[in-house]
Amino acid sequence: MNFRIGHGYDVHKLVEDRKLILGGAEIPHTVGLLGHSDADVLTHALMDALLGALALGDIGQMFPDNDPAYEGADSIRLLEAVMEHVRAAGYAVSNVDCTVLAQAPKLKPYIAQMRERLAAAMGVAVDQVSVKATTEEGLGFTGAKEGIAAHAVALLERA
Ligand code: MG
Repeated sequence: MNFRIGHGYDVHKLVEDRKLILGGAEIPHTVGLLGHSDADVLTHALMDALLGALALGDIGQMFPDNDPAYEGADSIRLLEAVMEHVRAAGYAVSNVDCTVLAQAPKLKPYIAQMRERLAAAMGVAVDQVSVKATTEEGLGFTGAKEGIAAHAVALLERA
C-alpha cells in the first residue's frame, strides 16, 4: 500500500496545579491538563493517528498509564518513539492535520510554536503539520472548561 490514513482523538481533564502543554508548547493558563504523562492532549491525538494509520493499536498500549516509566513523560519524546515505529514500518509522514477543542485560553498565539515542535519531533517540515483550534461555543465539557479535546488525522506514504 502506498498510502495509509489514521485518526486520533483524546480528551484530558482541566485541573488546578498542572501545566498546560499542547503540541509540546507550554501555555500560560490558570489550569492545566491532568494525566499520567504531561497530558499533552494534542500530541496524544496525533500519536494515535500515526499508530492508527499503521493499525498498531494506540498509545495506551504502547505507553501504559500504569507504567512508572511514563509518569510525567514529555509527550514529544513519546511522539519521537512513535515515529521510530512509522519509519520501521517503511512509511513517512505525508501530512497531519489536528484540531484542538478548547474554550480557553486563546490558542492562536501558540499555534506556530506547536507546529514547529510537532514537526521537529516527526522530522518533517512545518508545512506538513497543521494545527487548528476552535471553541465549542460554550457547549459540552470543553465549553464548560472541564477539559480539552483534540482530533488528528495523519496521512502516511511509503518511504
Ligand atoms: Mg491522553
